[in-house]
Amino acid sequence: MNHMGTEATADVETTAAVSRRDFIKVCTIAAGAVGLPAWAGEKMAETVASGKKPSVIWLHWQECTGCTESLLRSAHPDLGTLILDLVSLDYHETLFAAAGHQIEDALEQAVAQHAGKFILVIEGAIPTKDDGIYCRVAGRTAMETTARLAEKAGAIVAIGSCASWGGIPSASPNPTGAVGAPQFLKGKTVVTLPGCPANPYNLLGTVLQFATFGTLPKLDDKGRPLFAYARVIHEDCPRRAHFDAGQFAQQFGDAGHRSGWCLYKLGCKGPQTHANCSLLSYCEVPGAWPIGIGHPCVGCTEQGIAFHVPISNNLPIDKPTAPMAYPGVGPAQGGASAVAAGVAGLAVGAAIGAGFVASRKLSKDGEQ
Ligand code: SF4
Repeated sequence: MNHMGTEATADVETTAAVSRRDFIKVCTIAAGAVGLPAWAGEKMAETVASGKKPSVIWLHWQECTGCTESLLRSAHPDLGTLILDLVSLDYHETLFAAAGHQIEDALEQAVAQHAGKFILVIEGAIPTKDDGIYCRVAGRTAMETTARLAEKAGAIVAIGSCASWGGIPSASPNPTGAVGAPQFLKGKTVVTLPGCPANPYNLLGTVLQFATFGTLPKLDDKGRPLFAYARVIHEDCPRRAHFDAGQFAQQFGDAGHRSGWCLYKLGCKGPQTHANCSLLSYCEVPGAWPIGIGHPCVGCTEQGIAFHVPISNNLPIDKPTAPMAYPGVGPAQGGASAVAAGVAGLAVGAAIGAGFVASRKLSKDGEQ
């Protein structure tokens, strides 16, 4: 019996709820999510099947628990089940069957047993004002516990916008002095997975990569894995063709909105928001994300945009990169042929033309 109050499942092939094929599939998706080849997914599955499941200690601070909820509602296959088989979830205040001293003992046991190897997942912002008295668990402040466990962790992951940079709790006037884990744990490497909520596959891929290869994904200057946060949403948005064609919804419910046109004029922050929401579906349900259901992106992965810039405000478009879906124009190697150069010229011309149409439409509408 493990700390979750369920039977431990060292051999995944005997797990009733998860077939071996499903298991390898989710590992392959996780590997693909972090930019690793398909064979890495099989290696991840082998590692877990051999019983080497990474110990995960999951802390909850100032947050809504939305990241955990999102994780549990993943499907096809049920990631909520798989996460319990893929990792040894040794401490999680929301999911524990036990309570009180029992789970605090489990925490201390896991820390002692896996010191230097466990993955510390932090969900929620850390209040720092007045010595952090605004958030206590088991008589200790979030500041005390985070600092203590971070010293002993093998890797630290901040899941969600609150843990990554403060999120809603840090919005002005920030009465509790809430900060994200990287700001609190200055000098330590903290992988940040901002999002409100974060995509569960971005967490799973990061955790499995660390467990299998002992490495972390490449990160940007904010600690975000490049596999998920290198591009802005605008670059791979399904409404991008409407932006390029100058077709904008002017208000919620108008004909353009109902036709799936670009949401830029309704305040979409996609042009400045780095995330893979449009490429990696939440819960494997295509279209289940804000822009997919007709709401402008609020920029939740960006400190300084979400919960700071009003939802209806427009942001400048300073990264007019073409979507990945547009055909490439460069030869794989060697010099560019005349044909390729011609195609490149056409593509650049088309991109400029599209941008021109959009900018003309934007400025024309702005004059109205
Ligand atoms: Fe998509 Fe928003 Fe860009 Fe329009 S402005 S294409 S809705 S990301």
